[in-house]
Order: sequence, then structure tokens, then C-alpha cells
Amino acid sequence: MKKIIIGNWKMNPLTLKDAGKLFSSVTKGIYGIKKTDVVICPPVLYIERLKKLSKKISLGAQDAFWGEVGPFTGQISAHMLYNAGIRYVILGHSERRELSETSHGDFNLVKNQLEECLNGVSKNSISKVIVMYEPVWAISSTANRRDATSGDCREMAIFIRKILSDKFGGEVANVRIIYGGSVSGKNAEDFLKNGGVDGLLPGRASLDAKKFVEIIKIAEKI
Ligand code: PEP
Repeated sequence: MKKIIIGNWKMNPLTLKDAGKLFSSVTKGIYGIKKTDVVICPPVLYIERLKKLSKKISLGAQDAFWGEVGPFTGQISAHMLYNAGIRYVILGHSERRELSETSHGDFNLVKNQLEECLNGVSKNSISKVIVMYEPVWAISSTANRRDATSGDCREMAIFIRKILSDKFGGEVANVRIIYGGSVSGKNAEDFLKNGGVDGLLPGRASLDAKKFVEIIKIAEKI
């Protein structure tokens, strides 16, 4: 399965100019990358401009609203993203859910969130879904955070794949499961080799072109 590295810029950087610089540095850095899908999810108002800078990097949004169109101040619908040519969106990120705490290895929480998110997803479209396991306690901005290990990740990836296959059967063989939570050049290889995942979603590290490209190159050589 093709690996995928997704940068979640969150609410950064402050200006379009800086967004363009960061994006262009990543574009230069990934010259020659062929086997790894690269996605960047910047603040949505930068997307149109960034789109023009590279065809090799796909752009994604950081959230979408469930409605299609109508009186929902401040919201952007999945349909609008689609119509604007955007093919990736992070849904249910913990910073959107405003979930501040979960306990280590909370299998029930993962099961409930996953089942809720997959409600309404058909067998035909499940292969387009990427499932991200991101323990809140391992995110770089969490106070008193601690590291997740590739073992924690593998255990959860197996659990997630089992939930997927119970619901969708054989169709889930092609569904990518990825890991997020303080991904860096130091731990990327271990997560990709031993964590049972097909990709990574760095947040903080994606704001530094050198660090982000280093992670992409690690994925590329595995
Ligand atoms: C995130 O919160 O989506 C994330 C991956 O953050 P970080 O890599 O900074 O922990």
C-alpha cells in the first residue's frame, strides 16, 4: 500500500506569504519522491493560492461541516471543499472535538468514535477513507504529554482494522490507517516499520520544511 504523510498545519502560519514560503520549501525538498503520497492541510483560506504552487502536494482541509449549503455562519461544507477540488479533509480531530483528556489505550473511546464516524459510509466508498489514530495524550501541545510507542500504535491499528473488517468485510484491505501524535524524524521509521500503519500525520513537525521532508523521505525508503 502506498504510504501517506499528511501535514496538519493547524492555525499556522500567520500570513499567506509565510504559508507560500513553507509550502515551496517542502515542494523543493520532495523532488524525486515517487512512492509516498504527500498532503498538506493548511488553514482553508490559504488553499486556493497554495494549489497553484505544486501539483505534487495534495491539499486538504482541517474540518468540514455536515450540511451541504445554507444558513450556517462560519461553516464550510464537504461539498464546497469537493467542488473546490479538495480531496482530503481531517474529520473529528481532537482539537475540533475539544476533547482534552482520554486515558491511555482507551479502546472503547476509539471504537465509539470510529463507529460514529463511519456511520453512513458505504462499502463502495470505504476505500477512500483514511483512519487516523491520534492519542490526545501524545500530541505535542498536550500538557504533561507522553510518548506513544510503536507498540501502542500497532495494538490500536490491529483493533481499528478489526472494527473496519467487522463492518465492511474484505473491502478494508486497502484502507490506510495512519498515526499522529508528536511524529518526528526520530520516531517516524519506528512507527512506519513497527506500528502497523501506512502513514503518518505530523502537526508541529510539518511547520518546519526540513523536518517534514525528512519524515517524507523516511516513508519513501521503507
Ligand atoms: C495533531 O494534533 O494533529 C498533531 C499531529 O500534532 P503534533 O504532531 O504536533 O503532536
